[in-house]
Amino acid sequence: MIEVEGIDVFYGDAQALDGVSVSVPERQIVAIVGANGAGKTTLIRAIAGMLSPKRGKIMYQGKNIAGLPSHKVCNLGIGHVAEGRQIFPSLSVSENLEMGAMLPRARSSRASTRARVLEMFPRLAERINQSAGTLSGGEQQMLAIGRCLMGRPNVILFDEPSLGLAPTLVQQVIETVRTLSEQGLTCVLVEQNVTVSLKISATGYVLENGRITLAGRGSELLTDDRVRKAYLGL
Ligand code: ATP
Repeated sequence: MIEVEGIDVFYGDAQALDGVSVSVPERQIVAIVGANGAGKTTLIRAIAGMLSPKRGKIMYQGKNIAGLPSHKVCNLGIGHVAEGRQIFPSLSVSENLEMGAMLPRARSSRASTRARVLEMFPRLAERINQSAGTLSGGEQQMLAIGRCLMGRPNVILFDEPSLGLAPTLVQQVIETVRTLSEQGLTCVLVEQNVTVSLKISATGYVLENGRITLAGRGSELLTDDRVRKAYLGL
């Protein structure tokens, strides 16, 4: 569904991604793992249209979308759940969800999508008129995912969705990603929690210093000695 082909991304003179290629098959979960500063967020932001690669292609639905602005990328069906949740704290849950449906592709089906999102996250329905800033961390993450779903994406890019959440909520967020994938969404998952993310992913990539150093089935990477030593402390 998405083919990232040899992208180089720079911040000024500093190169953050060097010839990165990643293949994201339709309806699968693809995990990107790596240490802090490896370039995971940069890769997600490049696919989402927030950074423009200096070289390489990002193919989606047969077109090279590298360098397209983020609102156009979103409207093509690539949603982004950014690191740190990025909800609007002073707006209500309802208003935050409505913001997600402002994309042209999502407007006409707003009511039915909203009903589906609230069915998936009943806690949001219970708190529909509450300010988003008063929600718990886990609820805010559900809202961030719900808002992304309001844009009717085909693919969701998740950047550290479980960051800062208690262990039980981490599991809940991961289960949500799994459920969305079972419902037909394609997911790219950047997670600090390497074990859980590789467990639910068909494919995984290890990113080190801006380069892909290992790729394989999620289950294979979990038992790979290099991954176990570097990321699982085994
Ligand atoms: P983390 O898990 O800490 O978020 P990451 O793997 O997502 O790490 P990135 O945030 O993509 O890594 O950063 C990759 C490299 O690019 C790092 O060396 C980082 O210092 C650098 N970098 C990131 N954002 C910027 C920026 N806005 N300006 C300059 N350099 C940046």
